[in-house]
Amino acid sequence: MSLNGVLTIDLEAIVANWRALDALSEPETQTAAVVKADAYGCGATKVGGALARAGAGTFFVALPSEGAELRAAIGPGPQIYILGGYAVGDGGLFDRHDLRPVLNSAVQAAAWFQDRPGAPCAVQIDTGMNRLGMEAHELASLGPLPDCVQIVMSHMGCADDPAHPLNAQQLAEFRRLTEGLGPTLSLSATAGLLLGPDYHFGLTRMGIGLYGGWPFLEARRVVAAHAPIIQIRDLDAGETVGYGATWIAERPGRIATISAGYADGLIRASGNGCAAYIGGQPVPFAGRVSMDLVTLDVTDCACAPGDMAEVLGPNQSIDDLASAAGTIGHEILTAIGSRYRREYR
Ligand SMILES: *Cc1c(COP(=O)(O)O)cnc(C)c1O
Repeated sequence: MSLNGVLTIDLEAIVANWRALDALSEPETQTAAVVKADAYGCGATKVGGALARAGAGTFFVALPSEGAELRAAIGPGPQIYILGGYAVGDGGLFDRHDLRPVLNSAVQAAAWFQDRPGAPCAVQIDTGMNRLGMEAHELASLGPLPDCVQIVMSHMGCADDPAHPLNAQQLAEFRRLTEGLGPTLSLSATAGLLLGPDYHFGLTRMGIGLYGGWPFLEARRVVAAHAPIIQIRDLDAGETVGYGATWIAERPGRIATISAGYADGLIRASGNGCAAYIGGQPVPFAGRVSMDLVTLDVTDCACAPGDMAEVLGPNQSIDDLASAAGTIGHEILTAIGSRYRREYR
């Protein structure tokens, strides 16, 4: 028996999700794949390779280091954009790995145009999220955009809440700022795409939907995680379990300890109220999540050391785990970490 849990990643499901998202926009709208943070924990080289083979032509990552790794995996051809921007002096890095920056300020733009004259890039403008991107006056200060600017993009702050007034405001501001511009326009991530055709423009940037997460409800599930039971013990009524002794046995029972904890994406805040599944049967977390271990109340479940407990899979989605922990699927996926033995399908 191995102490390591097993993470199963269904590359075919990721490709199917990309195709399904692509089918939601007009044929002229390109569907780019966001594979930052190691493809949301799923493995950027594997995911990037599968999507490139399926025909994805444009990728986004956060950092040049991620872009270099992706380029090595997918080879020449597909475009790789770096969302974080351009740092003066990084021109050689972008050149060597054929990367394109998303220029987020007039200063970054001036540096790029000087370091790599004529080399392709994107420009991001802020339309109300106030995170990254040029203000209107910075965009204006560039004058007519040079041909090397291939994409003008912005990002939405509240697209996962369709009723939020900021959505229409950002759309109007994006239209106002990009009126008459030549490059491909891009406003939406997964949630924005689902707001409807007004938000599609020439290119969408799909992240969480590829990996099976809300708000893309028709998504195929992509990840499953199973951890082995490494010890089982009997408890008398009144005994407590775990750090802080927060869980108290109300009756004589059994506790199974599994080999996965918050270092493996089982967010500590989920604690009581969360469950794993053994043979499809729910077994509640008993007490706090530790770094490497979770204790389960298996009083009513026949099981033995070596049995695998499902923490993610058919019975529990990333969004189920996320809501138990008060977070979103993006954070569950990126918290999964590197200790699971990975199996790709
Ligand atoms: C992360 C990110 C995306 C993808 O977002 P999802 O919600 O995961 O689809 C798209 N665009 C930008 C600018 C991002 O930072």
